[in-house]
Amino acid sequence: MPAGSVWDEVLDTEHAVVVRTYIERWPRKGRPPEKVLIIVVEPDEETRCRCPRCGRRGPVAEVEPGRRWRTLDVHGKRCFLECDLPRIGCPEHGKITAAVPWARHDDRFSMPFEEHAAWTAAHMAWTRAVAELRITWEALASIVRRVTDDASAGTDRLEGLREIGIDEKSWGKGEGKYLTVVTDHAAGIHDVVRARAPQALICLDAFHVVKWAGGRLDELRRRLAAELRAAGCEDQAATLGNGMWALRKDYRKLSPGQRGALAAIAADNKPLYKAYLIKEQLREAFKVKGEDGKKLLRGLIAWAQRSRIPELVKLAKTLTRFRDLIYHTLDGGPSNGRAEALNSQLNALITRARGFRSAAALIAMAHLVHGGLCPDSPYA
Ligand SMILES: [Zn+2]
Repeated sequence: MPAGSVWDEVLDTEHAVVVRTYIERWPRKGRPPEKVLIIVVEPDEETRCRCPRCGRRGPVAEVEPGRRWRTLDVHGKRCFLECDLPRIGCPEHGKITAAVPWARHDDRFSMPFEEHAAWTAAHMAWTRAVAELRITWEALASIVRRVTDDASAGTDRLEGLREIGIDEKSWGKGEGKYLTVVTDHAAGIHDVVRARAPQALICLDAFHVVKWAGGRLDELRRRLAAELRAAGCEDQAATLGNGMWALRKDYRKLSPGQRGALAAIAADNKPLYKAYLIKEQLREAFKVKGEDGKKLLRGLIAWAQRSRIPELVKLAKTLTRFRDLIYHTLDGGPSNGRAEALNSQLNALITRARGFRSAAALIAMAHLVHGGLCPDSPYA
């Protein structure tokens, strides 16, 4: 086929030379065979037999005949590039499969296909994307990972960074399915931030601080319920169980029934009600902020310390330990609003992919969609 042929133009791959094209018929159950377009290509003189790591040329050791790479569909037909692929001897990297100009090393998809697939993954539900692309979910996940790895390799995505929000994100059911962006038990990460970025002003996110208080409140509720049960007061224990949501939620968001449960706890169970009031005061401190917020915080810490309720004394200790960081937040430090917005966008991603099977897949997807790494589709 002469240079400058139609197929060379169609492929747009600078260093590939089209040798010939043919149609293969793949049998399908209960349907006429699928027609698949095969384009036989060769790397041009300049790119042939080069090491994928260092680009040096090496002698051919052996050849894998007819290796195929899935590339963009042509007229609705699945299309593959085909080439006899040599393994070469690189003086530095030993025996290695030669690089090809149309695909990443050791990949089964061409680069234009991967860019289009990544674009598709970023723009539509994955169930639809994998159906349109005619690839598996796993293949799409690994394409997204390779495209984001490549795109992020050349750029410093932390350049110019001034503020960070640190958060945690659950991405699926079961143990360990969390992206670590820790704020609770945060000493570890704070140490890292202090060591690496001594000029950073660390602020604690209100949501997480209120969550600590909620956790202690739950602990206390469970202990009191167990004690009541042990003493044979099943009814009162049940009231505490029913009051769980009433205690956890923001007072302004309680249903009438929950308000009733809370009133019953206030009447029958003073320690638990005290813990509840302390938690709500903490929430209030973040609402009013500034000096008033700090006053509320100091007050509730003192109140918790005096309570002689072990769960609240523990809470007071934690709050005291992180008091300076909480002050930064109350002084109007950066809010986690942006992190929270990202959090809900991540939820949208998780929904779109109907759950991710690995954290790496979700991280790659987040970088792709929200990290500015999404390539242009050849179709877009
Ligand atoms: Zn090499």
